[in-house]
Order: sequence, then structure tokens, then C-alpha cells
Amino acid sequence: MTDALYSLSISELAPLLARREVSPVEVTERILDRIQEMDGQLNSYLTVDVEGAKAQAKDAEARLGRGEATALTGIPLALKDVLTTKGLRTTCGSKILDNFVPLFDATVCAKLREAGAVFLGKVNMDEFAMGSSTENSAYGPTHNPWNRDYIPGGSSGGSAAAVAADLCAASLGSDTGGSIRQPASHCGVVGLKPTYGRVSRYGLVAYASSLDQIGPLTKEVRDAALLLNCIAGHDPKDSTSVDAAVPDYLEGLGREIKGLKIGVPREYFGPGLDPEVAGAVQAALKTLEGLGAELLEVSLPNTEYGVAVYYVVAVAEASSNLARYDGVKYGVRQEGRNLLEMYAATRTRWFGPEVRRRIMLGTYALSAGYYDAYYRKASQVRALIRGDFDRAFTQCDLLATPVSPTPAFRLGEKMADPLTMYLSDIFTISANLAGIPGISVPCGFSAGGLPIGLQLMGPPFGEAALLQAAYAFEEATEFHRRKPGL
Ligand code: GLN
Repeated sequence: MTDALYSLSISELAPLLARREVSPVEVTERILDRIQEMDGQLNSYLTVDVEGAKAQAKDAEARLGRGEATALTGIPLALKDVLTTKGLRTTCGSKILDNFVPLFDATVCAKLREAGAVFLGKVNMDEFAMGSSTENSAYGPTHNPWNRDYIPGGSSGGSAAAVAADLCAASLGSDTGGSIRQPASHCGVVGLKPTYGRVSRYGLVAYASSLDQIGPLTKEVRDAALLLNCIAGHDPKDSTSVDAAVPDYLEGLGREIKGLKIGVPREYFGPGLDPEVAGAVQAALKTLEGLGAELLEVSLPNTEYGVAVYYVVAVAEASSNLARYDGVKYGVRQEGRNLLEMYAATRTRWFGPEVRRRIMLGTYALSAGYYDAYYRKASQVRALIRGDFDRAFTQCDLLATPVSPTPAFRLGEKMADPLTMYLSDIFTISANLAGIPGISVPCGFSAGGLPIGLQLMGPPFGEAALLQAAYAFEEATEFHRRKPGL
């Protein structure tokens, strides 16, 4: 029993903790040992907070003793290094923030802390969440636990790898164009991107503010519901967070999905879709049908413009958000002979190549004379994409698609060709452009043993239905039970 403590999900661990059969200190120490033993192979953690985690575990134990526990008390979590943690280094995978120790917790971290969760540390990511493979981290790539020669996906690759490798019970990531769902799919775990506005982004270091959302990466669907219950809700500190009641996301789990209308967008099953992925997703659709869901073909005609629109909007917003890293207020400075030279030296020396590329693309897209041609035009097409989803959701309750056109690719394979890398985000980007929720659940494996994910998307604030359907699918299948042989 104690041996496998590290492998338990939140839902498995919580009752053991509540019955005092295991202590949070014991669980935390066991996982910290495992990180120590195993993470050299994966590079999923950037910072392991041994002392902090042990202190939180002790507090959790006291709390359990007083009978004041929540479902998350004593649960060991890993946080993507883009979420500010008070007193704990937060790098965003960038050398420019190598020495940055935040003075405050992100709202999601504060909520988890209050619920009694334990923070094991901060996990690896593409620099400033720009990437799909975690290879853009300035601290070296994370490896896929299913095969170390492959990428774990990105940008929340550290989160997905740590969950899959049992180096935490669950993790929080962020998703601007797929960064929760795609690595979840490549590592065989569950990843949920909530509706834009569902979760406060206060303390999430901004990449593209009209797209960014925080969400859970977990070992099972129920855990995603548990975490969303804790982190969702209005926050006066984030004006984009929506003031709408938060339902109990656990409630619908276990309810049957008979009669649920699931739309299958034809544009997501065209050429370029890997046959193994297509096969696994088709089989998943059959499973959903077997559970009583009604499948119908729908069309999202503007899908093909998604990547182009995203790579204008996201880089434009990034160029503006990243203007704050100038060597003055945060992070690392490179000296120069005068102020302007210091700015230029700092940004040239300490941003990585992909971040510099995007800042330049974004600055160009926003500059006088080009704004109308690029940013305005992209915003108009974005509205069309949103319209596609509005129309689809008058016909169906949810949409089912692949997450990524291929299983994980080899480390290094796409690094020399940013455009191919960008194109791999085609199925996840639209949900961010439309602001709708999406979840990735394990639905198969390639012949080479790499996980494949099924994506379900829902209308705004439709997380409850998404989780219900994902849970029903998970209950009917075994993919989530398989573990990588590390
Ligand atoms: N891969 C996409 C990008 O590089 C999405 C990243 C994300 O969701 N943060 O921008």
C-alpha cells in the first residue's frame, strides 16, 4: 500500500487521508522521494519546495485532526511555473525571471492553499507558455514519461509529465491555444481548459490575455471536477472573471449520457490526421454512442483559419504583455551604457529565441499601418470562428474531436520548423478563440505505445456537461489506468 501511495489520484487519496489511514506528511515525503529518484529522467520540476511542502503537509495533518479538512487537504500538487507563488521562485521557464520570487499568490494558488493542498513545487513549461513541446523552456526540455525520446507536449509539459509519472497527485496548467489539453493528450492524463472567465487569472503571468485560462491536469476526470470546484469563481482582482454561480462539478458524474447530442465536426477529420489518432478517436465515438449518446455530423467552416488568426492575436497580445520585462521592475538585468541599451541588452540576452520571434511578429502586427491588416482582420475572423461554435451548439450539446493531429513527436523533430509546430495546434486553438471549455481524456495508444487523447468541447460555462460525458467515457474504458513503465 504505502509503496503505491505516490500513484493515487486525488479521489483515491482523499478518503484515506480523511479516515486518517495515511498522513499527509507520509504521502508528501513519499512523493518528494520519488521526485528525487525519478525526475532526473524527465526534468518535469523546475523547483521542488521540500521545506514548504513538508510544512504544508504538517498543517494539513493538524487540520485533518481538527476535523476541518476539505477534499483537497493534504493533496500534493505541482504548479505550472507560470502561476505566482508567494515566496517561491516563479520563472515561467525563462532566464529573464530566473531570480523572480513573487510577493503574492495567484488567486488559484491562494484558494488551493486555503483548502489545505500541499505544493510540491513548480513544473516545467515552454518559456512564457509559448510552445507545444516544452522544448522552449530555458531550463531544458521535459521528457515524455511513456518514451523519453519524445516530447510531453506543451506548454504545460512539466505538469502533464509529472501527473503521468506519479510525481504529484495532480497539477494546474494554463491553456492559451491548447497548453493543457495537448500535453494531457500526449501524456495520457486528463486536462481541462475551462471557459474564459470561469477561473481567475490573477497571478497567472500573462501570455495572451484574451485567450489565457488556468485549469487542472489530473489522473482521472473526477479529480478535474474536484479541482475546478476549488479554483472556479469570480475574483474582484481579475476583471475578466465572470460573476456567475459555480455549480458542484461532482454532481453530474455518474449520471448517464443517454440522449446527449454529440457533434462531430467534419473539418477535424480531414487529411493530415494521423491514422492511429483517427482510429482511436473513431473508436471513442463508438463508445460514446454505445453509452447512449447521439452522434451527428456538424460543420465548423472557419476551422482552417484558426491557426493563422491565433498566431496574430496571441503574438500581438504577447508583445504587449512582455513589454514589462525590461530589466527594471522584475527579474534579471543586463547592463548597458544607458537606459535604452540596458533594455535592449536585457531583452536580447535573457529572452529565448521563440519568445523574441513572437515579440517581433506581434509588434509588427500591431504597428501603425499594419494593425488593420493583421490584428483587426484577425479579430474579425475570430468572431466568425466563435459564430461557428454558436451555431453548432444549437444542434448539439457537446463536440467530440481529436486533441492533436498526431501522437507525441520526437524531441527535436519540429524545432527547426516553427510553422509545422504551430500547425500541430489546429484542433485546440479554436476553443481559446471562442472562449469555450474543452477537455482531453485518454482514448487510446499508438502502436509505439504513446497515448492519444479525445477532446470534448462544450458551450460557454458548459463544464458540468463536459465532465459528465468525460467521466462516462472514462468509466467505460481502461486507458486512464495504464501507467508508463518508468
Ligand atoms: N502551442 C501554442 C502556442 O505556442 C499554445 C500554447 C499555450 O496554450 N500556452 O502558443
